[in-house]
Amino acid sequence: QKKEWAKLKNEPSKTKDGVQVELVANIGTPDDVEGVENNGSEGVGLYRTEFLYMGREDLPSEDEQFEAYKKVVEQMGERPVVIRTLDVGGDKELPYLNLPDEMNPFLGFRAIRLCLEKDDIFRTQLRALLRASVYGNLKIMFPMIATLDEFRQAKQMLEEEKNQLQAEQVNVGEEIEVGIMVEIPSTAVMAPQFAKEVDFFSIGTNDLIQYTMAADRMNEQVSYLYQPYNPAILRLVKMVIDASHAEGKWTGMCGEMAGDEVAVPLLLGLGLDEFSMSATSVLPARSQLSKLTKAEAVKTAEKALEMNSADEVEALVREQYL
Ligand code: PEP
Ligand code: MG
Repeated sequence: QKKEWAKLKNEPSKTKDGVQVELVANIGTPDDVEGVENNGSEGVGLYRTEFLYMGREDLPSEDEQFEAYKKVVEQMGERPVVIRTLDVGGDKELPYLNLPDEMNPFLGFRAIRLCLEKDDIFRTQLRALLRASVYGNLKIMFPMIATLDEFRQAKQMLEEEKNQLQAEQVNVGEEIEVGIMVEIPSTAVMAPQFAKEVDFFSIGTNDLIQYTMAADRMNEQVSYLYQPYNPAILRLVKMVIDASHAEGKWTGMCGEMAGDEVAVPLLLGLGLDEFSMSATSVLPARSQLSKLTKAEAVKTAEKALEMNSADEVEALVREQYL
């Protein structure tokens, strides 16, 4: 199997009936790029920047961030690198921000909510991203967007920092794609409206599942409710993909589900454009895709959407493909 995977390293990700999708990797630091290269990934679908902010005493400076982002996009050349702005709070704490304890950290002051409020932190990151964007194919992605208004505010700050840098004669990329993570059900439901304003979606199923099922992703006692194959999740995924395509935009997925062998045929059938996963899953997924046809996957997905439970969906996929 390993040999078969290795042969696919420099091949495009194509189904048996010739449909091409993009298989990219999730990274946490510039050092992870090596693994991206070794595993034949076509780009980076999620760069979790919070690791730059963690395990230290204070915030990383604009220059420090610029160097990290530049290093990644330069190494990736023309290949896309989707960089997610700071997503702290929830399970990822930054002690030096001295934030008050919360009853429900996953429902609290985190990610874009924190960035819009503490906008000096956010603007520093945006400037670093804008400066790094001239060195490669950098795309910016905002996490935990719940309302259109949040997206517009974040985009507005990005525009302001871009204008400011240009006024300072600093080079910034002209055509940077700006997208959002879809990890809150309200945003999936409102995808048709968002699709008119964003350049792309990336579905964050790790959180989307926890928020849709109201089951803490860290709590063992309710883990039986953490159901990636639940038709409720598949329906939300479909809404997002269809909405993006109606506006000529693309949808990716960067939660664990994107590299899961049961989910892959379903996601292909639902029309997902980009699958972002841990680097070591890229070649196995490419191999799996090469043996599927889109035509058959579409039929499987249609059946799954009408089913009553995650177990039924899983049994259907296993019987048909695994
Ligand atoms: C997600 O929620 O699916 C995701 C990719 O983000 P994180 O796991 O970093 O919350
Ligand atoms: Mg998330």
